[in-house]
Amino acid sequence: MRCPFCSEVVDRVIDSRSARDHREIRRRRECLECGRRFTTREKMEEILPKIVKRDKRREEYDRLKIEHSLQKACAKRPVSEDELQLLVDNVEHALQEVSEAEISTDFVGLKALEGLVLLDKLAAARFASVFRSFESAEDYEEFFASLQKKD
Ligand SMILES: [Zn+2]
Repeated sequence: MRCPFCSEVVDRVIDSRSARDHREIRRRRECLECGRRFTTREKMEEILPKIVKRDKRREEYDRLKIEHSLQKACAKRPVSEDELQLLVDNVEHALQEVSEAEISTDFVGLKALEGLVLLDKLAAARFASVFRSFESAEDYEEFFASLQKKD
C-alpha cells in the first residue's frame, strides 16, 4: 500500500476491522518510512480468495450467498441473526487466514458447518444436507454419528 504522504510502499497494518455492514474492511496503517498513519478501505471481495465451485468455475466471494444458505438452514431454529452474522464473520476470518488466491466452495461450507454445529445441530444437519447433497436417511445418520464421535 502506498503512503499518501511520502509515496513509499512500506507499511504495516496496525488495526483491521470490518465496516459498512461487513462489505468492506478498514485498515489502519503506519508508513514505515515517514511514520505517519493512514486508513485504507478494501472491499471484502478484493481481500478474500476467489471461490472455486465444484464445476471448477471461479466466482467472487459473496457474503450474501453464505448468509442465505445459513438463514435457510436456521429457519425456525433458535439461532439469532446476530449469532448468524458472527458465524459468517468467523468464516471470513478463516478465509483471510488461509491467504490463498483461491479456495474451494467446500472449504467455505465446512467452515460454516463447523460453526453452525456449535449453535444448533439440527440446523447444521440441514445445512450439511444441501452442502454435501445428502440423498438418504443414512446420510443424516452418518452426519449425527460423526458429531457424536467429536463430543
Ligand atoms: Zn510515508
